[in-house]
Amino acid sequence: MEDCLFCGIVSGDIPSDIVASSNLSVAFRDVRPGAPSHVLVVPKEHITDASTISPSNGAVVADMLMTAQEVAFIEKIHESGYRLVFNVGEDAGNSVPHLHLHVLGGRLMGWPPG
Ligand code: AMP
Repeated sequence: MEDCLFCGIVSGDIPSDIVASSNLSVAFRDVRPGAPSHVLVVPKEHITDASTISPSNGAVVADMLMTAQEVAFIEKIHESGYRLVFNVGEDAGNSVPHLHLHVLGGRLMGWPPG
């Protein structure tokens, strides 16, 4: 999609620090990390956010979760634990309108998040 930041990262037009990729997803480091390990997993196809997911997106969402598992292994946080977050809408602070799964780990995280 034109003018989409994460579509630009997927295509390689915008530089990013890629951690892992599959045929359906790309994982890259968040530029403003909120934890020692903070990686974003995005679908290669443009999907706006988690509120627009339908059963037709099942394969890509499953692929994002499996890519997140791979990221956890690469980041060596698979045993200590990690948090997976989809932000939706203003109150959650969603700032980029291309579906992304935050993979956060490497420190103890409180619950509920602040
Ligand atoms: P959200 O607030 O859930 O929409 O998350 C968007 C995330 O994208 C934020 O954590 C930003 O720090 C991150 N971000 C914005 N621009 C870039 C970029 N060019 N490369 C990597 N991460 C980015």
